[in-house]
Amino acid sequence: MGYYVTTPIYYVNAQPHMGHAYTTIAADVLARHMRQRGEDVFFLTGTDEHGEPVALAAERAGTTPKQLADENAARFEALMPQLEASNDFFIRTSDPRHGARVQEVMQRVHDNGHTYLGTYEGWYCPRCADFKSDSEIAAGNTCPIHHIPLDREQEENWFFRLSAFQEPLERLLAQGSPFVAPVARLNEARSFVEQGLRDVSLSRGKLSWGVPVPWDPDHVFYVWFDALLNYVTALGFAREGKDLTGTFWPADVHLIGKDILKFHAIYWPALLMAAGLELPRRLFVHGFLLMDGEKMSKSLGNVLDPFAVMEQFGTDALRYYCFREVSFGQDGSVSTAGFEARYANELANEYGNLASRTLAMIARYRGGVVPQAALDAELAADFDGLAGEVAALLDRVELSQALEAIWQRVRRLNRYVEERAPWVQAKDAAQADALDVTLATLAEGLRAITVLLHPYMPLSTHKLLDALGRPELSYDGAALAATGWGGAVGALEPLFPKPQ
Ligand SMILES: [Zn+2]
Repeated sequence: MGYYVTTPIYYVNAQPHMGHAYTTIAADVLARHMRQRGEDVFFLTGTDEHGEPVALAAERAGTTPKQLADENAARFEALMPQLEASNDFFIRTSDPRHGARVQEVMQRVHDNGHTYLGTYEGWYCPRCADFKSDSEIAAGNTCPIHHIPLDREQEENWFFRLSAFQEPLERLLAQGSPFVAPVARLNEARSFVEQGLRDVSLSRGKLSWGVPVPWDPDHVFYVWFDALLNYVTALGFAREGKDLTGTFWPADVHLIGKDILKFHAIYWPALLMAAGLELPRRLFVHGFLLMDGEKMSKSLGNVLDPFAVMEQFGTDALRYYCFREVSFGQDGSVSTAGFEARYANELANEYGNLASRTLAMIARYRGGVVPQAALDAELAADFDGLAGEVAALLDRVELSQALEAIWQRVRRLNRYVEERAPWVQAKDAAQADALDVTLATLAEGLRAITVLLHPYMPLSTHKLLDALGRPELSYDGAALAATGWGGAVGALEPLFPKPQ
């Protein structure tokens, strides 16, 4: 079995922004970490391209939905290498291979008796492409997300018998269930189910931009059903001539934002059950990064624009900050001043400076060769169990806690430099062995935390491991060992220089 992680597919009508970067980077951290552990990983992201919002925008722009989707999807596809995302595939729901598989799965849902034709009337948000239930309508019949008036719509639709899955969903979302994390989101999903599930529209009759319903081609599938199915369909055609479904389905983790909880925690498992497919193992629901425009930096202004951050400070710095300022899974404030403070204090000073100092002392005191010496037992004890702890945290998608555990050791190594004062040891021939221990322990500690930090900061950790002459990334190397040294270390440019 492999390890399968997904982001939501991004709706092509939006410009790529911080929220897209956030989820993508989180999925990439998990994918890279699992690859280090030797897992066969599949990391999927992509774009959601059907539905009324795209059709309307294309009409306004005097173009076709397909053309508009092509243009906009390209911006999201280009975002992936910019973020250093190591996705194994980028799915686009306008791909006919996706459409064909959506039809196959939905035909099974239909054949299993979970659909019927009916008339739907309700309040509809064209931007959400969603009918709102009573509890989701804001004052004055407006959308609570988009703050625009809802439309009263009535149309003949195919319906999905969501109500038939009331009990299975109550069991799936019972207290203590691992299916949705964090627990506050599990509770939110359960309370939605406990209000009583009503059947939902499966198709739209007035729209042509979508996947046609195979048993009633005047209808296209409602965009949400087509979109959710991407997680399954992609495995069927991501690799030419090879079906990966047996290797990777069910998914290990769907990462989602809290705004799409209902679709993923309720509609999605019900749809899979209706089709006779296995359920994903876990949804991890992250919060929103709220911009605190008050805390403003000189170089970045008041809006934390991921593109400006990457241009001036590098991709690694953005990736690091995402999980450092706000605990992953919670809502919290980010700011350009907060970013710059962490860049200067933590990345440049605590980590970058530790790396430069360590390499400089090895060059100065030992001719650029890490001595083969026993490790300092006291320091090594502070690293005991770290690799296992980080792995266990990342198994639970606790990205911020795992990063914090690693960072405590970055700080521990900085204290170790001060405690041992190698510049004093170097002046005393009687302390030559002690200096060997200091330098070997520092190099090894730095190497091990760099292996652990690699999923968060792939570029700078590569540079540092290369400079140490120990480029291997395998998770076996995340624990301290006194072996492997004796080779020459190289030069290292500052990992986190002052911005231009
Ligand atoms: Zn809306």
